[in-house]
Formats: sequence, structure tokens, C-alpha cells
Amino acid sequence: MNPKPILVVVGSSNTDLVVSVTQIPAPGQTVLGGALQTIPGGKGANQAVAAARLGGGVRFVARLGDDAYGALAREGFAREGLDTRFVFATPGVASGVALIAVDEKTGENSIVVAPGANACLSADDIALAAARAAFDGAAAVLVSLEIPDDAVFAAVEAGHARGIPVILNPAPARPLPAELLQKVTILTPNQSELTLLGGSEALLRAGVATLVTTLGAEGARLEQLGEVPQTFAAPAVTAVDTVAAGDCFTGALAVELAQGASLPDAIRFACAAAALKVTRPGAQPGLPYRAEVVARYN
Ligand code: ADP
Repeated sequence: MNPKPILVVVGSSNTDLVVSVTQIPAPGQTVLGGALQTIPGGKGANQAVAAARLGGGVRFVARLGDDAYGALAREGFAREGLDTRFVFATPGVASGVALIAVDEKTGENSIVVAPGANACLSADDIALAAARAAFDGAAAVLVSLEIPDDAVFAAVEAGHARGIPVILNPAPARPLPAELLQKVTILTPNQSELTLLGGSEALLRAGVATLVTTLGAEGARLEQLGEVPQTFAAPAVTAVDTVAAGDCFTGALAVELAQGASLPDAIRFACAAAALKVTRPGAQPGLPYRAEVVARYN
């Protein structure tokens, strides 16, 4: 394996507060659930931890509140070996929290996200991180959308201006201007995000260099302008929890590309890592380590 490639991950951190219920409550209804589970999550943090467990040297750029959840999250990042110098504290603001009710029979869920400090991440934070050398020597920049637009734009620009490949996971999806898409090296939507963004044709025409769409149990599809689309099958597994599957996929893709793998090989590895993730419960706790992916699929 090559020396640890450096990845800059810019995005959210949430604490998932999860309760299993026999029935998702309707408006006005109260239901009694099972024991409360407190699980580290948030798309940015999930991607950062996935990339670190799969062999990346990860610099995480994010904001936490000055509360107990923020302190727990920071400790967790340190345990995972993330570089937390660019995880900024936000006085007087709560850390991001996701309130999740899961139907114990169907696995269906209902989620309310309180973004808290994630909503405070700004272009100035990206500039500060850049001034402190966050992007120096990086092999890839990974950005997701649970943070404000100006932070997303600044992060994409920071990578683009330095000639570093930028991987944008457009989740949760919102319309993105062509000027941004033209600076993105790889866009990684899932199928519903792809539809919301106008479909493959429109995105490739708008200037996305490479589109890698995740297809759930069907794997992933690679599309580039003027090329025949290529589909990569997902390993067959029994899924128990698909939370963070897309985050695992994107983190794995970034690490493999940063290691020098070809795009098809990186997509195969990402499918294998994400397949392992869905066999395990929880967002970050279920993310696989490189040795596990290699042992199972190589
Ligand atoms: P998201 O989690 O963002 O909704 P997907 O559902 O497309 O995204 O899942 C992301 C990736 O996780 C897929 O490309 C695939 O590699 C893997 N995956 C998801 N569900 C399954 C499954 N049931 N079996 C195997 N792999 C899966």
C-alpha cells in the first residue's frame, strides 16, 4: 500500500439519537419506544471516519457546539485518528443532532435534524483552515451538503484552485449552479438525489467531469460525457441497516483514488466497503476497516 494519502473532508457532524418503535408516531401521537441509542453520525463525519478506517490520513473541517454532544464527537474523532485541528468550536450553539425513530418491524425511519453548529460552518472557516495548511499536500477534497452553501462553494473552490480532485456527495440534494459543478471532479449522488439534480445528462452537460451514481443493492454506475455508462454490481449481502451506506461508499472511493487506483477499481472497492457497512447497525459504528474489506472481497 502507498503511504497514507491525505484527504480533506468538509461537512457535518451529528449525534444520532435513535429509538426503535413499534409504530412511527403520527402528528399529535405519542408512542413508547425502546432504549435510547446515542450514535455518532452526520454525513461529513461519517465520510471522514470511513476514509480514516479505510486507510486515509483525514483532516476533518467541521463545526461542533460547546455542549456534551460536541465533546463526545471530538473524542470520537480523536479515537478514529482524524486530524481535528480544523474542527472548530462554536460557543453558545448546540451541536448537530438527528432525532431518529425506527420502526422495528419494517426498518422504516422518520428523522428530524437540528443542524446546530453545522449551520455555522462558513467560507471564513474554510479560508482559516486553508491558511493553516489544511489543503497542503492533500490528494482529494471530499464535500457533502449538510452545511451552508458558502462553505460548500469555498471548499470546492479551495480544492479546485490547488488542482486537488474534488469529490462532491450532493446529499441532501439541493440545486447546484453550473459554476460549482464545473469545479467538481466526481459527483456521487444516490438515485433520488440524481433525479432531484435533473438527471445524468443535465449534470454531465453542466460540466460534471465524472458522475458516480449509487444504486443501493444494485451497486453503482459510472458516467462520463461521450462514454458508455458502466455499471458495477454490489456484492450480495443481507442488509440490516443502510444508514451511512452512501457515506461509506464516497469515503472509500476517495481513499482508493487517492491511493492511485483506477476509477473502476475504486468503484469496486467502494461497493465492497458499502456492502459490508449495510450488514452492520449504526452510522459510524458500522463503518468497515480496510483489512475487513480486503479479507472479504479480495
Ligand atoms: P444512500 O445510502 O446514499 O441512499 P445507496 O442506497 O445508493 O445510497 O447506497 C450506497 C451504496 O451502498 C451502494 O452503491 C451500494 O454499494 C451499497 N449498498 C446499499 N444497499 C445495499 C445492499 N442492500 N446490498 C449491497 N450493497 C448495498
